[in-house]
Amino acid sequence: MSSQKLKTHNNRKPDSKESGFFYLTVGIMKPHKQIKDWGLGLSNPMIIGGPCSAETPEQIAQICSEMKENQIIPQVFRAGIWKPRTRPGSFEGVGEEGLKWMEIVRNELNIPITVEVGNAAHVEMALKHQIDILWIGARTTVNPFAVQEIAEALRGVDIPVMIKNPMNPDLELWMGALERMYAVGITKLAAIHRGFSDAYDKRYRNKPNWSMPIHLKREWTGMEVINDPSHIVGRRDGLLEVAQSAMNFGLDGLMIETHHDPDKAWSDAKQQVTPRRLKEMIDSIEFKQSLENMRPDEKLFDLRRAVDHLDDQLLDILQERFSVIDQIGAHKREHNLTVFQSDRWKDVMDSRTEKGVKKHLSEKFMKELLYCIHEESVKRQERQLREAEPIKK
Ligand code: PEP
Ligand code: MN
Repeated sequence: MSSQKLKTHNNRKPDSKESGFFYLTVGIMKPHKQIKDWGLGLSNPMIIGGPCSAETPEQIAQICSEMKENQIIPQVFRAGIWKPRTRPGSFEGVGEEGLKWMEIVRNELNIPITVEVGNAAHVEMALKHQIDILWIGARTTVNPFAVQEIAEALRGVDIPVMIKNPMNPDLELWMGALERMYAVGITKLAAIHRGFSDAYDKRYRNKPNWSMPIHLKREWTGMEVINDPSHIVGRRDGLLEVAQSAMNFGLDGLMIETHHDPDKAWSDAKQQVTPRRLKEMIDSIEFKQSLENMRPDEKLFDLRRAVDHLDDQLLDILQERFSVIDQIGAHKREHNLTVFQSDRWKDVMDSRTEKGVKKHLSEKFMKELLYCIHEESVKRQERQLREAEPIKK
């Protein structure tokens, strides 16, 4: 398969993350193939189950048999063969040997199998053993050298690849890894949302930061994102809540670590569930319908029309506000005043936030909105000062 150049919108600077808000350089990921078009008989929402790590052939056989017994056959079976561990000394995976045991899954469940690859040698072995889908782990996604090495090893191979988000909440790294795959001809792509490391938030092993997967879907329409509640929560309790949120937001599937005897698992023992519990969880999740490719009903249509109208008004008001800002800029120039005045800024921030909160808008939203508007105002005025004729003395 020939490599395809990614087009980039050139109306934005590359590398332009300003002031904590995202201004992304948007790559075009079309036409990547949707899960339903991977040729593996999969559909959305895609449920992936299986252990954190393959441990023994008996373990794999037992999980398969309990999946059958409890009538919960996931669409895809996962197993970690090489385990990227934060510190050496913990179980680092059974290696190539474990790939042979995947034959058991094929015989018992007859579903596609996915394993994690972290370098070119892993890719080679996974391909040799006819693994159906590869995934790239969070610790690999952070490293463009490693991602590129994997991409090169896959050049010309038509295998689906799923990319977990990087450990840190950097959307561009996540997108970059997907782009690296796409650039070598991999078109069967999906993302996995497994949360982000945060030393201060003890509620989660990895904080979900829902704005990230949503932002990815906003930037690349059609990019499917599978949620991995196991690595987000890090414990059995709370998995269901995160999985339900993922479905409410409209993510495209769930990857849930499943083990016949979770407490004795060789890795991630606290977060794995039995096949029986997996079945209970999947049965109790409310799967929402996506409106994508569907006509909205009349009520929704009217409500959206109302929003369109309000957005127009909002834009008119913003235009008016910035025209007053320009007049203030001209006045400041004339009187040789600085653009930024901290007292005034503090006043605006505090009073507007208070008003917003009274109108049931969150404080965080108000602050982000005001920062955004203020930053634009300050930049506009500074440009005005810079571009105007020098004041004659
Ligand atoms: C895993 O899926 O078992 C794993 C190691 O995940 P992550 O890369 O999300 O930490
Ligand atoms: Mn795990």
